[in-house]
Amino acid sequence: MAMKKNILFGALVFLLAGHIVFAQKTSTVYFTKDISGQGVLKVYQKIKDSVKGRVAVKVHFGEEGNKNYLKPELSKPLVELLKATYVETNVLYSGPRQKTESHIKLAKAHGFGFAPIDILDSQGEKIYICSTACYTRVLAGSHMDRYNTFIIFSHFKGHGLAGFGGAIKNVAMGLASRMGKRAMHADYVPDYDTSKCIRCGTCVKQCPAGAISINPLKIDTRKCIGCGQCLKDCPVQAFEASRDRISSELFNRRLVEYAKVLSDSNHFVYINVLANISPDCDCSGRARKPFTGDIGILASTDLVAIEQASLDLVNQAHKCQDAFLKESGRSGNMQIEYAARLGMGSRKYKLIGVD
Ligand code: SF4
Ligand code: SF4
Repeated sequence: MAMKKNILFGALVFLLAGHIVFAQKTSTVYFTKDISGQGVLKVYQKIKDSVKGRVAVKVHFGEEGNKNYLKPELSKPLVELLKATYVETNVLYSGPRQKTESHIKLAKAHGFGFAPIDILDSQGEKIYICSTACYTRVLAGSHMDRYNTFIIFSHFKGHGLAGFGGAIKNVAMGLASRMGKRAMHADYVPDYDTSKCIRCGTCVKQCPAGAISINPLKIDTRKCIGCGQCLKDCPVQAFEASRDRISSELFNRRLVEYAKVLSDSNHFVYINVLANISPDCDCSGRARKPFTGDIGILASTDLVAIEQASLDLVNQAHKCQDAFLKESGRSGNMQIEYAARLGMGSRKYKLIGVD
């Protein structure tokens, strides 16, 4: 009973904190137009004093069928310079990234094999006890404690549910264990269009929760774990990310809270690469074409500032106020607003070119 009260009190304090307007300092974000390994080193030089001890570089090794992920050539000089380890976690949906052995095999096939690779949740979970509005615990890989600094190396691009996926998502979803990912996706049930279904049976076979039936097409909402596998697999796009606005907002809140707990407990610095900016995430097997030209690479020690600067640059390049809303029907603004409200960084920044 006492524990329950403490959790409720903690959640209340967390919610109230969310409504306090934090006096925003101006953070620094470094920028280069040079999208290469050398460009990464240039921006890294500006934040290197914050990188200490054993270093992990958190990347996405790429999905089969999606060419937009950040190629190893970009991070290689940095990883070699720091004798760092590439880190990732296993995913919810089926495919090579679901299991450690096949995940590492895929990483090597995509050219990341020149450095050590550590799948952080390959030997279980680390539990972070917390009291955020959505969570009382956050689940990440048990190998988190092996590293003193994490360089969160993120591809800034669209995301069907969150609006965009950048550093916040790379921390939250990228470092969460499979059960942590499930906790963020839970009750995100895709929409579906029965008239498009050609009854190939793929979704029924691949759904890890046995939630789909196809005569007619239907998802059992009590079983669905929101993994997104069906969106990825269906050959005729009969599924799509739910258009329910609350669901998208809730997903973004969950992402931000996961990122907050993990960034409060670990030491992170951030590098965002603005290239191949598709409306879709790198986990999508059928990502659409980039909607704007390549922009550059940013680095910062402030999570909110680097996301805000990245979003502003994409909007500027696309000549509109909200590029992701325009291209995929989802705004990413809420993600940044909520992170700023939780005191995770500053939306005010100074962009300093290093070219
Ligand atoms: S129905 Fe739900 S659990 Fe099954 S594949 Fe789709 S999102 Fe995943
Ligand atoms: S994968 Fe798509 S087309 Fe095939 S059965 Fe499922 S919904 Fe129908």
